[in-house]
Amino acid sequence: MFINGKFVNAKSGKTFDVFDPATEQVIATCPAGEAADVAAAAAAAKAAFYGGWKATSAQERGRILFKIADRIRARRDELARIETLNSGKPIVESEYDMDDSAVCFEYYGGLATKINGEVIPVPTNAMVMAVKEPMGVAGQIIPWNYPLAMAAWKLGPAIAAGCTVVIKPAEQTPLSLLALAKDFEACGLPPGVINIVTGMGPECGAPIVAHPDIRKIAFTGSAEVGKLIMRSAADQLKRVSLELGGKSPNIFFADSDFEAAVDGALFGVFINQGEVCSAGSRVLVQQEIYKKFVDACAAKAKTIKVGPGIERETKMGPLVSAEQRDRVKGYLDIGKKEAKVAAGGGVPKGFSKGWYVEPTIFYDVDNGARIAQEEIFGPVMSVIPFKDEAHALEIANATPYGLAAAVWTRDIFKAFRVTRALEAGIVWVNHMQPTMLEAPWGGYKMSGFGRELGHWGVEEYLETKQIYINLDEAPIGWY
Ligand code: NAP
Ligand code: MG
Repeated sequence: MFINGKFVNAKSGKTFDVFDPATEQVIATCPAGEAADVAAAAAAAKAAFYGGWKATSAQERGRILFKIADRIRARRDELARIETLNSGKPIVESEYDMDDSAVCFEYYGGLATKINGEVIPVPTNAMVMAVKEPMGVAGQIIPWNYPLAMAAWKLGPAIAAGCTVVIKPAEQTPLSLLALAKDFEACGLPPGVINIVTGMGPECGAPIVAHPDIRKIAFTGSAEVGKLIMRSAADQLKRVSLELGGKSPNIFFADSDFEAAVDGALFGVFINQGEVCSAGSRVLVQQEIYKKFVDACAAKAKTIKVGPGIERETKMGPLVSAEQRDRVKGYLDIGKKEAKVAAGGGVPKGFSKGWYVEPTIFYDVDNGARIAQEEIFGPVMSVIPFKDEAHALEIANATPYGLAAAVWTRDIFKAFRVTRALEAGIVWVNHMQPTMLEAPWGGYKMSGFGRELGHWGVEEYLETKQIYINLDEAPIGWY
């Protein structure tokens, strides 16, 4: 773990194993942090906040973030390799994630000096200001699907805001963030500003939420854990932001560009092995093109090169863990009872090791089926036919989630109508998944609340203080 600028073991001495999903081999052991370790990290973060970090200039914080971005670029190949060995994802995707993480730190480096307050006109002889201040120590709990990128999305804005941090990576994928921490000191980051605790959710994540000196919790992960966190945070009325999962609709009208549509349907749900919170896992297709669309998707899905992420030609790696592979396999069995199989449906042949599953397409899926309502978090597409625009919208919004959605059509009026009617925090037109660090990211409904990225991201780490300055020298004159 990385606490107060030093790599340390858990106080208990306990460790846990970290695996390569392609070989099932142990590639590292990490300290299994518990409440005592979280307390040490929180104490370091609190001391760093009041001991100087709070008073650093925005320029200084910005420069540190630029340096972190530079280090990620300089170490791109090494960090991408670690990311792929630890998460299973294709190396090309890891390289993209490293570039994206660098841009994220850079974006917030630039934003640090643009966190302005406001002067508010009031009827009295006074000047009233709203000023922004860092909340203090922030707790951040992140998932395993984009390990370094998810850390960047949370660390960038927290540091820009002037907060200090206790962050817990997922138990499956702590390595890339720990590797980056080696450079924090050289980037000018004082000890205690970013503390990394490794361990299991209940033992190491829950104490972050419960710690009285941690003022805010930012979480990305499952809806189940999101609910636990909100309940626990309620005891101290702690601010929380939750980025949870989804069951995002990817809607294809008959007038969309057929080739681009098929490509977009596959990309929407098979990128990163489908381990994506915004995965377009419900593919809604208009009746006129339905049969042809399912056939074309199935034919293309069968050509996806599955293999170890470290091999450059691989387009789909193994899932992150045996547990996740078993979860997804469970849904494949459920899907075979609920719908028809167009492609995949099992474990690919030819691998003696590795937590692989086949890119799978179910069709004739009823939107009420479990494979259309529950987040699978694997390479599983559920195709659902629809009649017309109203029918598409009815199906699209019939989900407890509301993270993302996409609509494909060449009719600009229809595109706008559907975009406005979709209940989702991110809506793409004629694309699915491009994620812009400058724009807001977050969900409606059970996909959570709060927004990451862009200037919205930094707001999550700021308090707003009203300051009233009386300009009238006379006494109030009331008594
Ligand atoms: P998860 O448990 O929600 O993991 C997310 C993070 O929360 C991890 O760091 C986890 O630690 C931590 N955590 C777990 N229990 C906690 C608790 N009681 N208090 C505080 N923190 C806690 O997700 P998962 O179990 O790895 O995956 C299960 C399912 O969640 C997936 O199949 C998928 O459907 C969904 N998921 C969604 C996203 C997303 O981005 N929306 C990301 C990941 C998973 P551990 O690593 O020790 O569990
Ligand atoms: Mg877990």
